[in-house]
Amino acid sequence: MEFLCMDFINSQWYKTHKIFKDPLKDKNWLKDFCAKWNLADTHIPDKAMINKLLELRDFLSYVTNKLCTKKTLDLKDINKINDYLKASLFYKILEKSEDRFCIKTVPVKSCSDFIIFEIISSFAQMISKYDIDRIKLCENPECRWVFYDESKSHTRKWCDNTCATLIKVRRFRENRKQKK
Ligand SMILES: [Zn+2]
Repeated sequence: MEFLCMDFINSQWYKTHKIFKDPLKDKNWLKDFCAKWNLADTHIPDKAMINKLLELRDFLSYVTNKLCTKKTLDLKDINKINDYLKASLFYKILEKSEDRFCIKTVPVKSCSDFIIFEIISSFAQMISKYDIDRIKLCENPECRWVFYDESKSHTRKWCDNTCATLIKVRRFRENRKQKK
């Protein structure tokens, strides 16, 4: 299960792993991200927009952490999510391309609002339509990748096998050390 909001929150992982810089500040990464999630019509965000995205990621990361540990959110957090949702105004238009009609959602103000709106909507949908107990952070303290646990037993702890192996090996060594 993939969620736009999770993909967005997990972009912070790259700051400390693999590419060691913030993908949100990388125009090519942002372009691919927008294309992947059908936000391709939007302009490449300017500096002000990137700051807004960084702020949004901090906030979503904070509420996801809270959700994973406390299994609920405060009214204050819910209000802030609603402020984000209210800030974006859209209307729908009908378009004709060749022989087909299609409906398009168009932002009243700037196109970059659309990215924020889609990310925050994705988060609101995820926590309202899916099981919040399955939203988890990788138990490797140096990783903390956010994922949706689709295992039957709800017992997945790691983002992937690399983290699982790493932690298992570490625990095994620690246990051996304690026994010595
Ligand atoms: Zn991990």
